[in-house]
Amino acid sequence: MKRVVLVMLDGLRRDFVDAARTPRLAEFAGRAEWFTNYRTAFPSATRVVTATLVTGCHPARHTLQGNSMALLENGVLVPHDVGRPDFLPHKRSVTGYTLAVPTLAERLAPHGGVIVYNNVSPGAAYMHDPDGYGHVYHRAGSFAPGHVALDPLNVALDAAGDGAMTQQFIADVFGARQPVLSVLWLGEPDHIQHNAPLGSPEHLAVLDEADRNAGLVIDAVDRRRAGGDDILLIVGSDHGHETVSGVVDIESEMIAAGIKASADSNDMIAVSSGNASLIYLHPDAESQRDRLADFLASQPWAGQVIDAANLATVGQAPHNRLAFAVSLKADALENEFGVPGRSLAAKPRWDKPDRLGCGQHGGLARFEQSPTLMMEGPGFAPGATREEPAHVTDLAPSIMRYLGIVAAGMDGSFLQRALRPSP
Ligand SMILES: [Zn+2]
Repeated sequence: MKRVVLVMLDGLRRDFVDAARTPRLAEFAGRAEWFTNYRTAFPSATRVVTATLVTGCHPARHTLQGNSMALLENGVLVPHDVGRPDFLPHKRSVTGYTLAVPTLAERLAPHGGVIVYNNVSPGAAYMHDPDGYGHVYHRAGSFAPGHVALDPLNVALDAAGDGAMTQQFIADVFGARQPVLSVLWLGEPDHIQHNAPLGSPEHLAVLDEADRNAGLVIDAVDRRRAGGDDILLIVGSDHGHETVSGVVDIESEMIAAGIKASADSNDMIAVSSGNASLIYLHPDAESQRDRLADFLASQPWAGQVIDAANLATVGQAPHNRLAFAVSLKADALENEFGVPGRSLAAKPRWDKPDRLGCGQHGGLARFEQSPTLMMEGPGFAPGATREEPAHVTDLAPSIMRYLGIVAAGMDGSFLQRALRPSP
């Protein structure tokens, strides 16, 4: 039986994969196909990227707009933290659906099913399968098909927790159960990168453990292949990171400029996805749209400002009265450990503020948009480098292509090529 194994190291920048810092991943890059121009969703934040990966569609189609987003509820713009476990049921009650297009869990349920082990936020974990077609294992609660509750994963969000989860994953998906798609989503190195400078000794120590956890899965796949299994192995990440060079409270700036009425006014709201912000405009404040555009265009903290007419260029749409998307100002300067790429971050509404000098992501800057992708299996040239653009929306079509299942209605395209047989 054909099977797919997907291993994601949350937040792993492509330029951190090398023989010194990630020896197992570097070794795998040498035998898989390595993608040098792989980009991710916007905002480049885990919950959005997860929805984009599992649907093969941009946020404009699946409707999960950011790590935070607003919904228009009874005429009121209500900001939401998408990471909360109750967000998706709430979104379903407001909009009529969780994600607007089917997930891999739904598409593959009749073909052998999907099992996900995930150690990031509950909102991101449940984004894999919001309507309960497969198995999702998470420390906040695990679920079987039909949303039947199972014991939560007993792991912490750190490298040791990732290690324990990796062991369980291998015993489960290569043991009695043989799902057609197995997903292991490690919380590291993203977690440490938010809490220590990129390239610091603390970061590199955790990165080494993440590398070893990925190596355990690569070894397990090799053993199964030696036993005759036909496996497509994908190892990658959802986004990269930039060093936080400053934190901007966008709503306060809007109020100070006289654009937004007050902190709790409902005329317009800005919600953070790390280095990006989504700005929603209430229908009654439509007359303020041009002023808001002028304000955003003149701010020193605004990198790219995308207005409603151009949201499609970044995979977004003006759902829920989304009026502007902003990628905050970034530069290529190095941090104290010689790691290039810095960005301003948008102050979050609920989480603790970003730590200056540590990592963050969410925007369109170079390194947050340079995640890792390696693919090994039919249609991918061993040891080759693929320089043509690839996008996270291409993963689901590639998985379906490998399994020989029609994947209608996805935005992305499969990445396999007809390879000449070796002589
Ligand atoms: Zn993160």
